[in-house]
This record gives sequence, structure tokens and C-alpha cells, in this order.
Amino acid sequence: MTAHVAPDSRQAQAADEARKVEQTTCCVVGGSPGGVMLALLLARKRVDVTLLEAHPNFEREFRGDTIHPSVMELMDEQGLADCLLSVCHTEIHNLSFRTAAGSFTPVDFSRLKTRFPYITMMSQSSFLQFITEEAKRYQTFD
Ligand SMILES: Cc1cc2nc3c(=O)[nH]c(=O)nc-3n(C[C@H](O)[C@H](O)[C@H](O)COP(=O)(O)OP(=O)(O)OC[C@H]3O[C@@H](n4cnc5c(N)ncnc54)[C@H](O)[C@@H]3O)c2cc1C
Repeated sequence: MTAHVAPDSRQAQAADEARKVEQTTCCVVGGSPGGVMLALLLARKRVDVTLLEAHPNFEREFRGDTIHPSVMELMDEQGLADCLLSVCHTEIHNLSFRTAAGSFTPVDFSRLKTRFPYITMMSQSSFLQFITEEAKRYQTFD
């Protein structure tokens, strides 16, 4: 006897089938600052890592464009700060206000004891692109 599968059921079955099967040691889901950085650190430790991102590129919802001094220090620890600063960016060294009574500067990052006493303004997509380009240098990264 031949079993007949209704077309709808066949379509549902096809949708459930895995189209591509790959093996990796570690799979990071989310090409976000946390995800790309984790993937880079694992790749550098020679751990096979696959990074997945739902969006086709990094031009996703706006998630800000400031990189704070503490983040730049972390990038520096990884030997990436100088290269990162070669990517198009601007720097905010202080915040000044001009009022009728005169101007004043309530925020002055230059007083911070760091190599990076400023806020780096860079689109998050550029930042994510930079980190993934760095990760691609390692064969363990996909
Ligand atoms: C409006 C706004 C402005 C911000 N401004 C700044 C700022 O100026 N400076 C700053 O330092 N921080 C800022 N932040 C915070 C910063 O963006 C977040 O701390 C940072 O994005 C968190 O990163 P994350 O790695 O946790 O993941 P998220 O950025 O939350 O990203 C998660 C990623 O996972 C992907 N994803 C989710 N599910 C799946 C799935 N099933 N499969 C594949 N991919 C998946 C998503 O598409 C997304 O790309 C801002 C946040 C917002 C919302």
C-alpha cells in the first residue's frame, strides 16, 4: 500500500529539514558587541567558533555609537586600540555649556587617568565590522 502525504504536510516537513549541517566546537548566537568579542577571543585561543547573526549585515537597529574609555582600555589590552582608532571616528573630550552667565564645563574626560581620556564616537556597525575582520584572520573563526 502506498502512503499518500498531503501537500501541506509535505511542505511543513520540508521546512523542518536542515538545509545545511555544519560542525563546530562553539557556536555564538548574536553578532553584537558581546558576541563578536567573544567569538574573537575564542578564535584567538584556537577554539573553532561559528558566529551567527540574524541580520544580513551590521546595519541593524540603532544601538548607540559611543565607545567609552574603559572599553578602549579593554581593546588596548587585546592590542586592538590603535588599529580601531584608524577607523573613522570622532572624539568628545569634554562637555561644555554656554549660558547667559558664561560657559562652564561640567564634564572633562581629560582628567581621567587613561590613554583614552575621551569618548570615541564610532558607528556600532563599524565597530562590529572591525572586530569580525580581526576575527577572520584566524582559521578557527567562521
Ligand atoms: C538605543 C540604544 C543606544 C545605545 N547606545 C550605546 C552607546 O552609545 N554606547 C554603548 O556602549 N552602548 C550603547 N547601548 C547599549 C549597547 O548597544 C548594548 O549594551 C549592546 O548592544 C549589547 O550587546 P549584546 O552583545 O548584549 O547584544 P545586542 O546588541 O542586544 O545584540 C544581540 C544580537 O543578537 C542577534 N540575535 C538575536 N537572536 C538571534 C538568533 N536567534 N540568531 C541569530 N542572531 C540573533 C540580534 O540580531 C543582535 O544583533 C545602546 C543601546 C540602545 C538600545
